Parts: sequence; structure tokens; C-alpha cells
Amino acid sequence: MNGPGAPAPLIPGPEVRLPTEFGDFAVRTWTDTRTGVEHLGISAAGTDPDAESAAPLVRLHSECLTGDVLGSFRCDCGEQLEQALALISLHGGTVLYLRGQEGRGIGLANKLRAYALQEAGADTVEANEQLGLPVDARDYQAAAEILLQLGLDRIRLLTNNPAKRDRLEVYGVHVEAMVPSEVPARAENERYLQTKRDRMNHHLNLLRASPVQQS
Ligand SMILES: [Zn+2]
Repeated sequence: MNGPGAPAPLIPGPEVRLPTEFGDFAVRTWTDTRTGVEHLGISAAGTDPDAESAAPLVRLHSECLTGDVLGSFRCDCGEQLEQALALISLHGGTVLYLRGQEGRGIGLANKLRAYALQEAGADTVEANEQLGLPVDARDYQAAAEILLQLGLDRIRLLTNNPAKRDRLEVYGVHVEAMVPSEVPARAENERYLQTKRDRMNHHLNLLRASPVQQS
């Protein structure tokens, strides 16, 4: 914890306007002075008539180069990001784009190593375990610190992942509601999503039941 007068661990950059295909946003970097990682805050005012009474919408988006930039179908990151940007453009809110969280925190090279193991039959949890890596190495302390600096101590969180909500609560951000962030499965990512649901406790309702194991 930082004592009184201690410098804030997250340093904001200047806010600039960023017009995009999803709407007009105000963006700024947040530099974590402990790690040097530069996160990006993306906010929109929105025009939701209920916005004044409801807690602001927030999405914590973990960087995924293959999904976000290349539009990979191996995961649902790219589509979740697009959905979140469209939603906050409409209703107002903030997307925190969290850098350094590739492959749930194991890094890009290890994510591709895990993909190679998945091509040999492992699911996303087993692949990380075979590599001796955590299934989810992400931490949301920096995200919570940014939200608190923005005065967002009471939010609605765009997520299917209860662990994300629980971590934010530990760091002092009250999550009033989880707003689903679900995109339809594709053939290429259906097993990945089933594993998220069945082994990582994600709330996914658009997904078919997993195939029954033959015994
Ligand atoms: Zn991804």
C-alpha cells in the first residue's frame, strides 16, 4: 500500500480524442511505474438515459495480439473488444486495455507454445499445465488502481468471468453487476470457450453443452 504523499503507482498521460469505426473515444495511457507497462484507458460519454442512476460500464480487456489485431478465431478476444467498444460508445463507460496480459499473463511466445500443445490435443488449461505455467497469471491490481484514480469505485463490469469481479472487489472497486460479454462461438473456438465455461467458471450461455465423453 502507498502511504500518504507517496506517488501514485499509475501515471496518466494526456487525454486525446480518438475517432474510430466504433465511435469517438477519449483515450489516455496509464504507465505503471513499478513495471513500465503502458496500459490504455478508452472512455466514451455515451447517451444512455439510465447512465446517471446506474454505475458506469467498465471492461477490463487483456491484450491479445492475435485476437485483437489479427482477428484470430482461436479465441473470442477480438470480438469481445469490438463489442465492448460499441457498447460503451453507445451507453458510456470505460474500456481499460491492459497490456502485458497476453495468454492470460504468460506472454505471447508461451501463448503460441500453448497453441502448439492444443493442436496436439490439449485443452487450454492442460496446455498451460504441460508448460508448467499458471492457467491464469493475470492480476488486476493496476486496473483497480486506475479505476480508483478515475473515481470509478462503483461499476458494472462487462465480463463473463467471476474471478475478475472478485479480484476487483479485493482491491476496493465495488462491482454492482456483471454485464455479459459473450460472443457466439465459432467452430475454431468452441472448445476453447467450453473449457472456459467448464474448467474456469466463466458464465457462457450461448454455448452448446460439451460433447458427452464416451466411457
Ligand atoms: Zn485472445
